[in-house]
Amino acid sequence: MLNIGLTGGIGSGKSTVDLFFREEGAYIIDFDELAHSVEEPDRPAWTGIVAAFGHSILNENGTINREKLGAIVFSDREKLKKLNEIVHPAVIEEWKRRIAEIQKKDGRAIVISDIPLLFEAGLQSLFDMVILVHISPEEQIRRVMKRNSYNREQAQNRLRAQMPIDKKITLADFVINNEGTLDQTRTIVHEVWQRLREEEQKKGRIIDVPR
Ligand code: ADP
Repeated sequence: MLNIGLTGGIGSGKSTVDLFFREEGAYIIDFDELAHSVEEPDRPAWTGIVAAFGHSILNENGTINREKLGAIVFSDREKLKKLNEIVHPAVIEEWKRRIAEIQKKDGRAIVISDIPLLFEAGLQSLFDMVILVHISPEEQIRRVMKRNSYNREQAQNRLRAQMPIDKKITLADFVINNEGTLDQTRTIVHEVWQRLREEEQKKGRIIDVPR
């Protein structure tokens, strides 16, 4: 098994690249989706959040009202920290559970975990390698404006909340340039996939004395 982290700035094309890796045969774990799943009623993070913030942040059906919770934590750093302390360990536990499940099914799997803030959260040590999806900050702003119907200022604010993408380049093992067409990116993903397969095959290989 090869355990790969995939990251990039907002709008750099992580979801798009995930899709191309899935076509190649990768198993994809999406951390945003994991975070949502551990916050479902009676799951570990849900229980912790209700204990810390009270029942008033719940919808009538018992799910967490994200707008209410957001309004509380985004105006108070301490509360945001508290929320992260509840959610992050639950997400990592759930991730480990899913990795174990895949390992059981397919010992030669290449698993790609899509984590928007992988470097900001210092999660590199969970992975054999990290892939960065890269586009220039100017193109990031253009794509986020288009995708989210944001104005320039809203897009710029989202970018500013993250580590600059050029700093992320220095921390990654592979950088996928997603500035070109989708077909070009698909070709790059195919190339990276070949290298990942080679890496996976090297794992556990014994280097013996030359005869
Ligand atoms: P992320 O998951 O990193 O936030 P997405 O994969 O959602 O980014 O891509 C951001 C936006 O840019 C989406 O609307 C997507 O369709 C578009 N996009 C992604 N890659 C390309 C590309 N190579 N050329 C043009 N648009 C792209």
